Amino acid sequence: MTLLVMGSVNRDITAQLPEFPQPGETLLATGSETATGGKSANQAVAAAMVGARAHLIARCGSDAAGAEAVRSLREVGVHVDAVTPGRAAQGTAFIAVRTDGENTIVVVPGANAELRAQDCPQHLLEKAEWILLSLEVPLATVLETAARARAAGVKVALNASPSPGQPLDLRDVDLVIVNEGEAAALLAGAGAAEPGSQPEDLAAALGLETLIVTRGAAGASIHACGHATVQVPSVEVQAVDTSGAGDAFTGALLGRITCGDSLETASAIAARFAASATTRVGAQASYPRDFQVDEPSV
Ligand code: ADP
Repeated sequence: MTLLVMGSVNRDITAQLPEFPQPGETLLATGSETATGGKSANQAVAAAMVGARAHLIARCGSDAAGAEAVRSLREVGVHVDAVTPGRAAQGTAFIAVRTDGENTIVVVPGANAELRAQDCPQHLLEKAEWILLSLEVPLATVLETAARARAAGVKVALNASPSPGQPLDLRDVDLVIVNEGEAAALLAGAGAAEPGSQPEDLAAALGLETLIVTRGAAGASIHACGHATVQVPSVEVQAVDTSGAGDAFTGALLGRITCGDSLETASAIAARFAASATTRVGAQASYPRDFQVDEPSV
């Protein structure tokens, strides 16, 4: 039940504002928070919270913010032996949230840009069932790691987010998880968004065994090659902040698959975990620490 999650770890600095500043303008925030974030760190936390043995492989900053990120991840049960300081400062996301919930985000990659395929230790590849990758680190690192993992007999999942802006080579990937916008970009990049193409064909169009598309409050769909599409309903909740919902879903999904659940069961649990996260403010900070895998309600 070992899952490797390889990619970004950031410091999220969030400021609440009544309005976004215009170019050249300075505004005073009405409040702010600092928390550990980054797609892969978020996903590793979600996987650990649903019971997987989750190892994060990442480059944190060589500064106090990097040390704080490692401490906070260890505290929630993520294995951090393969989180090593880079030369640069901790990657940082500057998030401005307007009163109506709309946000703008600027990410400074910092040490995340230094992550290399060799940073994934061979001894971890030898004991893992799955590795989960995402795209806030150099693309060459992701593709090389996918090839190494496949050669070691480890199944490869890719959260193709943020959209890479170029066609992706998915030859060493078994499972892709994306939201609707990212799915459209992937299919367009592969020249596969033919009008009239059936949902059943989407995974095959990308040369994949399985594609999962998340659709916010509308749930998710599982497109497995040669099988009818399976719809995963979302759980109805009073959502107050959906930031980090995709990472919650993806991390929980891979966590449960690694624990031996079927794709359908793991997706249903992931939908429940992600729905719960939307009922609290923040990304990683909103994930349910006391989540019960076997409970039917949120
Ligand atoms: P992303 O954050 O990457 O855009 P989505 O918005 O598609 O991802 O959300 C991922 C998953 O989180 C969804 O498939 C769903 O299970 C859950 N989710 C997101 N928003 C809501 C919501 N408002 N109510 C219930 N579940 C939600």
